[in-house]
Amino acid sequence: MSKVIVFCEHASGAVRRASLEALGAAKAAGADVVAVLTGEGAEAAAGSAAGASKAVCLTGQTEYSSDAVASAIADLCGAEGAGAFLAAATYRGKDLAPRVAAHLDVTPFADCIELCAAGDSFHVKRPWLAGKALATLGSSGAIVATTRLNVFTPAEGDGPAECAAVAIAAEPKARVTALEAKGDAKLDVKEAPVVVSGGRGLQDAEKFHIVEELAGAFGNAAVGASRAIVDLGWRPHGEQVGQTGKVVAPQLYIAVGISGAIQHLAGMRTSGTIVAINKDADAPIFKVADYGIVGDAFEVVPKLTEAIKAVKAES
Ligand SMILES: Cc1cc2nc3c(=O)[nH]c(=O)nc-3n(C[C@H](O)[C@H](O)[C@H](O)COP(=O)(O)OP(=O)(O)OC[C@H]3O[C@@H](n4cnc5c(N)ncnc54)[C@H](O)[C@@H]3O)c2cc1C
Repeated sequence: MSKVIVFCEHASGAVRRASLEALGAAKAAGADVVAVLTGEGAEAAAGSAAGASKAVCLTGQTEYSSDAVASAIADLCGAEGAGAFLAAATYRGKDLAPRVAAHLDVTPFADCIELCAAGDSFHVKRPWLAGKALATLGSSGAIVATTRLNVFTPAEGDGPAECAAVAIAAEPKARVTALEAKGDAKLDVKEAPVVVSGGRGLQDAEKFHIVEELAGAFGNAAVGASRAIVDLGWRPHGEQVGQTGKVVAPQLYIAVGISGAIQHLAGMRTSGTIVAINKDADAPIFKVADYGIVGDAFEVVPKLTEAIKAVKAES
């Protein structure tokens, strides 16, 4: 069975959910999984790398350096004879995977939604053409890919009992010397299981609060936005969903007053369940919606918020 090496980010002594999803992707492909971790606390976190038969901790550098870590991971891919390397499509994963691919002289595949066994090697599937087509891609060498967040079921169960230490040999060209936490503790649209997004149908920035209140009622929802209202300065760019914003795949995506332009659909059409609220019954968003509510957002959304709160209060 060909091996898959999975880069595992960790925080507070445990592998992060995004990386557990990448581990889940590798397990779903039937692979023998090797988890690779680095940084302070890597050894303690390695035990939570569910589904991995082995963990490797990259040591020797106190400050994270993506070029040095990429070089070490490429060496590890060679040493393990790995058929694939996966990292979650987080900021760090997206920075790391192309560097590993460059070392291995292969093409990196971004934002994949499936890893599948193909003989002794692997293929990946990823959306193309703003999600209109699904491409199955192979490589003449190892597969190097990032996994789209919220698509794969996180791996569960025990991780490896031990973490083998491997020193990072390459001299870093650049290092991360400090990370500053954002001032707010808002959920990011890429990671939240529920995303409630608003568009120009909200009429002006002051009325956007109905979207925030609906997101707040869920308790685990992030607020998203169409580009139209980001360009208008109603919402920050970090909330923009779409081709030139973030690509999201939450379990539930609610689009409020969003027409469903192709560039917006590119960022959310692989969501689990899509609910659209729009007063125009012919709005394109309804073509991708699982549930559509034709109505005025200012009437529908407050009622929906109250209904969600009532359900939450009962449970
Ligand atoms: C290169 C390029 C990249 C782009 N990238 C992105 C991107 O990343 N993300 C993105 O979103 N867009 C992107 N766009 C812009 C995109 O083409 C659309 O212009 C944009 O998505 C429209 O935003 P919207 O749906 O909020 O506004 P509109 O298209 O104006 O739609 C507003 C909707 O609200 C409905 N509405 C009005 N009043 C109400 C009400 N009271 N209740 C309920 N519904 C109501 C209307 O029926 C309408 O459907 C990009 C465009 C280009 C050219």
